[in-house]
Amino acid sequence: MAIDPEFERNREAVDENDGVTVWGPVDEPEQLGIHGTHVAVDFDICLGDGACLEDCPVDVFEWVETPGHPESERKAEPANEVQCIDCMLCVDVCPVDAIDVDAGRSG
Ligand code: SF4
Repeated sequence: MAIDPEFERNREAVDENDGVTVWGPVDEPEQLGIHGTHVAVDFDICLGDGACLEDCPVDVFEWVETPGHPESERKAEPANEVQCIDCMLCVDVCPVDAIDVDAGRSG
């Protein structure tokens, strides 16, 4: 299952994590929702692979600890999504299609 690119329509913004919008549903620690808007990461799909952190040319992502999540105990938070230059590298390298980038969405 890949991230839903229509999450803005299909989900509600339920929280904010250091300026990053969180789209629910959220039921910690097993269900963490989608983090980010311009650069969106589905935390419930993210395996903590790290390719996006390594490849992003402008360091949009930062690790956050997510103990108790069934997929992985760390996730790639799009903490600096405002810096994104829409190169789409992160979308291409993510092994589980957990990331969607759309410049038309304001982060
Ligand atoms: S699209 Fe490019 S610049 Fe934007 S977060 Fe992904 S890798 Fe970084």
